[in-house]
Amino acid sequence: MNQRIELISTLNEECQGLAPEEILEISIKKFDNKITYICSFGTESAIILHMISKIDRKFPIFLLNTHFLFPETIVYKNKLLKKLCLTNCLDIFPDELLIKKEDPKNNLWMNNTDRCCEIRKVKPLDKILKNYNSWISGRKSYHQGERINLKPFELLNKKIVVNPLINIKKKEADNYFEANDLPQHPLLKKGYLSIGCIHCTFKTNDKSNMRSGRWKSKLKTECGIHLNRK
Ligand code: SF4
Repeated sequence: MNQRIELISTLNEECQGLAPEEILEISIKKFDNKITYICSFGTESAIILHMISKIDRKFPIFLLNTHFLFPETIVYKNKLLKKLCLTNCLDIFPDELLIKKEDPKNNLWMNNTDRCCEIRKVKPLDKILKNYNSWISGRKSYHQGERINLKPFELLNKKIVVNPLINIKKKEADNYFEANDLPQHPLLKKGYLSIGCIHCTFKTNDKSNMRSGRWKSKLKTECGIHLNRK
């Protein structure tokens, strides 16, 4: 564990001031076939997907498919994968027996969002990560909340998380889309700045807080995959 903490500290030092593409490239080389991208196919996912496509089109990518994603997200996913010629992306679904046992009517989200996220996102993520020792996350500090103080590399639940976009500005993200002719998520023009499951995603009324439409009216701000649990 101490070795990994030291490694993270070294990587954060070495990668200070580097561009997201460079952080990504260093990580993919360093962690070889033990790194994956957990992609939400949300409004800004195309940036990392595009960067990965320049490095390795067979790079492993996973979507945590809760069964509650917007149909527009699935359409967008297929469009991006095709455009970028990415050939190694899989949807990971929740365990069917667990859903039958704990959420047979698919309405757990109404009264226990934490448990719903746990069985539909966190547990499937843990299953994927059994085969990896590091993963790429698309978090950006301009999304605020816990993300403001993050560094490019962190240790989370015994895995190394790489946050290549953590220091970019919103304007830079917009410019990247334009410069690389990347399609936007279809729900962006309808007012959704951050997109997750249908039941817990609302239009973003407060544009200064991009994630304010997620779990609106609840204290919850994160699904749990980025929380320390071990
Ligand atoms: S975001 Fe909502 S619907 Fe999706 S897994 Fe979490 S609680 Fe369930």
